[in-house]
Amino acid sequence: MDSIAGWMRGAELELALQKTEAVMIKGRRQWRGGQMQIAGVPIEIGREAKYLGVWVDSSLGFKKHITEAGKRAEKSVNALSRLMPNIGGLRMAKRKIMGAAAQSIMLYGAEVWVPALETDSYRRILETVQRRIMLRVVAAYKTISGEAVQRRWESGEGGAWTRRLIKDVKKWATRSHGEVGYRLSQWMTGHGSFGAYRRRIGKSEEAECFHCDRDQDDTPEHTLFRCPAFLGRRDRVERDLRRVVHVDNIVDVMLEGERNWRVIAEWVEQVMKTKEEEEWRKEGRPPPIV
Ligand SMILES: [Zn+2]
Repeated sequence: MDSIAGWMRGAELELALQKTEAVMIKGRRQWRGGQMQIAGVPIEIGREAKYLGVWVDSSLGFKKHITEAGKRAEKSVNALSRLMPNIGGLRMAKRKIMGAAAQSIMLYGAEVWVPALETDSYRRILETVQRRIMLRVVAAYKTISGEAVQRRWESGEGGAWTRRLIKDVKKWATRSHGEVGYRLSQWMTGHGSFGAYRRRIGKSEEAECFHCDRDQDDTPEHTLFRCPAFLGRRDRVERDLRRVVHVDNIVDVMLEGERNWRVIAEWVEQVMKTKEEEEWRKEGRPPPIV
């Protein structure tokens, strides 16, 4: 050990002896502590030590690392799930983020410790954590205080347009049916193929709708409820659902039942798809292959 310290001094590196930990790697044999000395400083030989984010233990079994990684993943997911209500009803996106966060924490350094998963009991540690995290991810919306979310929602998290659509955020978030796909989320956030939005982000000079000649700004509201180009579809939806659908009730109608949700989601999907295709055509680009 002294020669290592000496070599490091030669390379102008210094061993911080007070912070140095030692672990003796000795396979499955019994661990017996002990001490060693470097440059006169006693260093305890411990059962395990953390090195570059991985817990190394004397048997190289990685039980400590697996336990710690599980704990850390769970802690982050819990913290994330408390933050996440901010992004409103985009459940799929939210689950994806939480799942990915948990996975990246749990799998950190896996190249090193993956053989440890051959031990059933170690694998079960991770499986148990994983199950708890999944439950947490699925239940995230149900465990937060409805009032707190509603207050935050009304005070400005989420854009004004989305707030206008989703008035009761708890009812929206705790619904038992209805996934929000890509195009529906575009329409509900106003981010996407809308002239008004494209001008705001500097992608277009004009905000006017190019499906009609009414000098109207191209917004989600105009598209679905006012643009003559799409009124026929609205008509069909209203006849199908036997009711009038407008900005202030569309989300309530969707929440009323799974079939309503499907009909409206399909309507939005088709309209948004047509808009996208028009946009590509206008820009002379071929449509992307989806
Ligand atoms: Zn229009």
